[in-house]
Amino acid sequence: MALIVQKFGGTSVGSTERIRNVARRVARWHARGHQVVVVPSAMAGETNRLLALAKEMSPSPDPRELDVIASTGEQVTIALLAIALHAEGIQARSFTGPQVGVLTDSTFTKARILKINQDKIRKSLNDGSVVVVAGFQGADEEGNITTLGRGGSDTSAVALAAALKADECQIYTDVDGVYTTDPRVVPEARKLDTITFEEMLEMASLGSKVLQIRSVEFAGKYKVKLRVLSSFEEDFDDDCAGTLITIEDKKRMEQPVISGIAFNRDEAKLTVLGVPDRPGTAFQILGPVADANIDVDMIIQNIGHDGTTDFSFTVNRNDYTKAMKILKEVKERIGARSVAGNPTICKVSAVGVGMRSHPGVASRMFAALGKEGINMAMISTSEIKISVVIDEKSLEHAVRTLHKAFGLEKPQKSKLSLTGRDETDIITPS
Ligand code: ADP
Ligand code: ASP
Ligand code: MG
Repeated sequence: MALIVQKFGGTSVGSTERIRNVARRVARWHARGHQVVVVPSAMAGETNRLLALAKEMSPSPDPRELDVIASTGEQVTIALLAIALHAEGIQARSFTGPQVGVLTDSTFTKARILKINQDKIRKSLNDGSVVVVAGFQGADEEGNITTLGRGGSDTSAVALAAALKADECQIYTDVDGVYTTDPRVVPEARKLDTITFEEMLEMASLGSKVLQIRSVEFAGKYKVKLRVLSSFEEDFDDDCAGTLITIEDKKRMEQPVISGIAFNRDEAKLTVLGVPDRPGTAFQILGPVADANIDVDMIIQNIGHDGTTDFSFTVNRNDYTKAMKILKEVKERIGARSVAGNPTICKVSAVGVGMRSHPGVASRMFAALGKEGINMAMISTSEIKISVVIDEKSLEHAVRTLHKAFGLEKPQKSKLSLTGRDETDIITPS
């Protein structure tokens, strides 16, 4: 008998019929004698709908209240799933994050899990129940409801698996694993049987939203066996299905240098021009940006000439207006010449642990993009990734170009469960 945590994403619980399917799948695991904790997301589109309601009230709603609203989506699915499990003849109990004791810090809308109280879950599991816990949410020390950032149910599931020392954490979604790139952009993308934590962490942080980055961090830190697999596949063999996130994959010695291409379309670039070239200016620019809780991604400072330099960085597009306002104030304070920005850039990255031992990856990447006439505005590298900032209109073209340049495609079409995705969610290659 094993203890399994199973997370089902929004599309997988997108209708009552799909919730019934999830219940049937959970029932099969339960029937095999396993203890099961299920973590559903809100129904597809629901979190967006709830957040849009709040925005109708105010353009910048209080984050505490946003979390009160956003967390209700998952409260609906846990109860529906518990009821569906009852209909399958299974004993099941649902709990919200706060009810079950998911303690977080107080950073509303992107809270971090501090501790999980196992008592309630253990008690219900020992009574023979399937335990259904709402993803994406918790409560801080004062009992305020918090949410864990978009895609946060992945993190709830992995954190629960870590706390309960589960045998496996299964992330069921609408694709049957982690692919060499988003299969919605490159239909030739290939499913990976395994990917290392390190690579998955980079892929997630560079925009592959198949797993929320914090869930991968958690899984790596607490050695949770983590698997991504499809909730739409009927004839499945869960023991070897999907993609397993591994610590180290010795079998992959012979494999390509690059494991995948990640991209993020939500980026914006800001530049302060004519910055006095003296110690402390980078801090004077980025300090107020950090104080405003804006995450800065790539940073580039040009070589100074005539005592001044240009300083560029990227932020999430949602933070662009706020960051621009801050920079205009900073410009006056530090005596810079002007401020410029571009809110329509995006970032494309090649990721692979094999890069460490293979030189020439960057030049292959730049050559491929250059040949296609795709201009790079910024470049950043680490041991296992190379990222470039380009104009958003070239994004799909760049992803397909790099996927091909690194030989990641496979001959036949990738296996995709596009069932029921909203049309608007599907990016059709142009
Ligand atoms: P869920 O609602 O189940 O959490 P998400 O939409 O958050 O699902 O994540 C699954 C989606 O991630 C897929 O439909 C796919 O479009 C996208 N995706 C992006 N990059 C990848 C990748 N490298 N491999 C697989 N899916 C990816
Ligand atoms: N429902 C939340 C969201 O849409 C959390 C999740 O789906 O993981 O971001
Ligand atoms: Mg997700």
